[in-house]
Amino acid sequence: PTIPNATTTKGRVLIIGATGFIGRFVAEASLLTAHPTYLLLRPPPLVPSKDAIVKTFQEKGAIVIHGVINNKDFVEKILKEYEIDIVISAIGAKSLLDQLILVEAMKSVKTIKRFLASEFGHDVDRADPVEPGLTMYNEKRLVRRMVEKSGVPYTNICCNSIASWPYYDNCHPSQLPPPLDQLQIYGHGNVKAYFVDGIDIGKFTMKVIDDVRTVNKNVHFRPSNNCYSINELASLWEMKIGRTIPRVTVTEDDLLAAAAENCIPRSIVASFTHDIFIKGCQVNFKIDGVDDVEISTLYPDEAFRSLEDCYEDFAHMIDDKIHKEEHKIKGTKSVVEAVPITASCG
Ligand code: NDP
Repeated sequence: PTIPNATTTKGRVLIIGATGFIGRFVAEASLLTAHPTYLLLRPPPLVPSKDAIVKTFQEKGAIVIHGVINNKDFVEKILKEYEIDIVISAIGAKSLLDQLILVEAMKSVKTIKRFLASEFGHDVDRADPVEPGLTMYNEKRLVRRMVEKSGVPYTNICCNSIASWPYYDNCHPSQLPPPLDQLQIYGHGNVKAYFVDGIDIGKFTMKVIDDVRTVNKNVHFRPSNNCYSINELASLWEMKIGRTIPRVTVTEDDLLAAAAENCIPRSIVASFTHDIFIKGCQVNFKIDGVDDVEISTLYPDEAFRSLEDCYEDFAHMIDDKIHKEEHKIKGTKSVVEAVPITASCG
């Protein structure tokens, strides 16, 4: 039998949100493929660090287009002018509904072969976070329904958690090294979740975009070597740094209270932490529906970077910092540049 496989033509890819946390991984990965890569950026000025990232993308062949996605005429114009085949949105949580206009534009031009909405997390139709995470998921659900109705072929990337320590009280899930002072264990600490290196999120996203097996599917990232409970994450980290760290329990009520504070974006992270580590939203369902596919079944020969290796990197990073005595190490130091975030509490 013939096994359906990726087509050989390399479609033109438009990435929205390439200066963001997830969008950068996707843009990097796209530029490593033969897909002509276009980046839709908001009009200048960009903050200097984002400007520098864009320059490196341009050096690698990216073509920059300035504009916003919530302008239907503009989006239609660029989709036609640049003959875009595939659109990948990695737009941030605050702008998810801007995608509704993008979908309208893609529907009008009728030439888009695949759309990836800004998902890059849980299967939002199955996960069930408390507020304020629920509001964000309702927006992602609305975008899904619009895309389904539009007739534009789509793929939803359900890549689960980014490989790092899942701080519940952060403003943004990010690539942060695990803490050195104390390890916060959520509930009994035995509920499992999947952790995926950002580079793999980008790499596997690019694999699915022109694979016929992923048309109109949710693609779930469940790499078997990266399935850990928070207790296991804590032990892995202790093993990597060669010492034990005191563990404290953050109860379900603590997480719900942090969510109920309704401080955006921190409380959103707390509500997701509750959904992942108390309710088991990443592991409490089987991937057996006609709309679902697990990525390892599509590319069985392609390995995911192990969480062990990611934690090894964090251990080296902390070692380097200690040796250079550049910074006083705090567990919450970010390894990516901190982006100013305006918090608001309801
Ligand atoms: P960021 O906030 O880091 O970046 C958002 C990007 O979207 C920026 O490049 C921003 O541009 C751009 N943007 C926002 N509005 C517009 C607009 N109207 N027109 C054009 N560009 C716009 O986003 P994240 O990377 O955090 O989030 C992307 C997705 O990934 C979300 O769906 C989020 O839920 C998910 N996610 C998943 C994680 C996981 O662990 N699985 C972790 C983090 C996010 P500018 O630079 O100009 O602001």
